[in-house]
Amino acid sequence: MKKCTVIGGGIIGLSTAYFLNKQGHEVTVLDASMKDEGASFVNAGYITPSHFIPLAAPGMISKGLKYMFDSSSPFYMKPRLDPDFMEWAFRFFKSSTKKHLHSSMAPIYEINTFSRNLYEKILEETGIVSQFDSKGLMMYFQSEKAKIHEVKLADQAKGLFGIDTAVYDKNQIQDKFEPHVEMNILGGIHYPCDRQMTPGEFMRAFKNYLKSVGVTFEHKIRVEDFDLKGTEVSKLQTNHGSYQADEFILCAGAWSAKLAKKLNIKLLIEAGKGYRLDVFENTGVNMSAILVERNMAVSPMDGFTRFAGTMEIAGMNTRIRKERVKAIKNGAEAFYKDLKVPSYAVEKVAYGMRPVSFDGLPFIGKSDQVKNLTIASGHAMMGWSLGPATGKLVQEIVDDHPKSMNINAFRVNR
Ligand SMILES: Cc1cc2nc3c(=O)[nH]c(=O)nc-3n(C[C@H](O)[C@H](O)[C@H](O)COP(=O)(O)OP(=O)(O)OC[C@H]3O[C@@H](n4cnc5c(N)ncnc54)[C@H](O)[C@@H]3O)c2cc1C
Repeated sequence: MKKCTVIGGGIIGLSTAYFLNKQGHEVTVLDASMKDEGASFVNAGYITPSHFIPLAAPGMISKGLKYMFDSSSPFYMKPRLDPDFMEWAFRFFKSSTKKHLHSSMAPIYEINTFSRNLYEKILEETGIVSQFDSKGLMMYFQSEKAKIHEVKLADQAKGLFGIDTAVYDKNQIQDKFEPHVEMNILGGIHYPCDRQMTPGEFMRAFKNYLKSVGVTFEHKIRVEDFDLKGTEVSKLQTNHGSYQADEFILCAGAWSAKLAKKLNIKLLIEAGKGYRLDVFENTGVNMSAILVERNMAVSPMDGFTRFAGTMEIAGMNTRIRKERVKAIKNGAEAFYKDLKVPSYAVEKVAYGMRPVSFDGLPFIGKSDQVKNLTIASGHAMMGWSLGPATGKLVQEIVDDHPKSMNINAFRVNR
């Protein structure tokens, strides 16, 4: 049994704590925050084996340049004279190639499917009662151009991984999937393999479960530095004293890069801000969906409907950009004819920082430099999906057990 300290209590940290505790380790989770906030609470809750294309993919160079000067666009990158950002941007565009796409699709699909199956197991084993919607995900489109693109992706999904998909026109969608809302769409594609959860509900229940089985949580503890003894971390320095352990796991989301830098480990991760609007009235929306032309998500959650989206790479800041929030509201109202997103939803908007790695793949593993530190971060738009698989892989790394899958694509020193 080892003493393990997990830095960060988002979905990656909690999943890691779960699998380490299950293996008999003594686990403490440290988190800088007191509140239920951030990416793991505001996300759209999708578990998406259907999404195997990394963010860094062909087309992102032209998209990035086009959107760089439009702060209401779905993908906004604000250039900064910061060497870390410049290196990240350089490596991001350098990774947006066909070669990288082809080598990334299989590992992303494999870890996604593994993770979806682990969510099912966790729910079964813990007895946690939380939404786990199995109706699948819809990709709704309004234009012929988007339809052609989406049909091509669906054919690729079927051809490469045997993913089941079906294309429907508007009338079929209204009859079969969305009988209670009038849609303004040309059609959609259904991916039955995907799932959707209510993140805040699950996070709270998961934390309570972990406490009940002996995991210790320390809130308002900000890790500030590491004490090294040879090639091992001996202690963490925090705003409230130091913490000793045998193994340390870095799961601090978008903040991971800054902490890793203290150990001379280069993690090219930028914060990618996204927003959510929650509507508590009955919207009639039945299916989880991505509104393709608006690049945004719609999730019928437990007790409310969530509209989420935008990717704003503009450094670590707490600013809420009104034009981006408005773009989410407008996008939703453009696809669901009678929907009016109430003003309280806009006023109570919340955001989260996605940890966006330079090549769209997570970092899962040990660095070459420090023996007893495992890194699990950089999951970008897939962190909710990949939580359980990441936690399981971290436990296998800590225990030096055979890995459930090949994790070479996720190695830290890349
Ligand atoms: C709008 C939006 C929609 C999304 N939708 C989806 C989706 O549908 N499906 C999907 O798979 N993913 C989605 N994502 C992405 C997903 O939410 C993230 O990838 C995931 O939550 C990242 O989890 P994490 O645990 O790595 O980071 P976080 O949830 O950010 O957790 C990191 C934790 O570390 C703590 N921390 C930071 N610094 C320190 C420190 N120095 N000391 C101690 N603690 C520290 C923070 O307080 C925080 O609690 C979405 C994200 C957003 C913003």
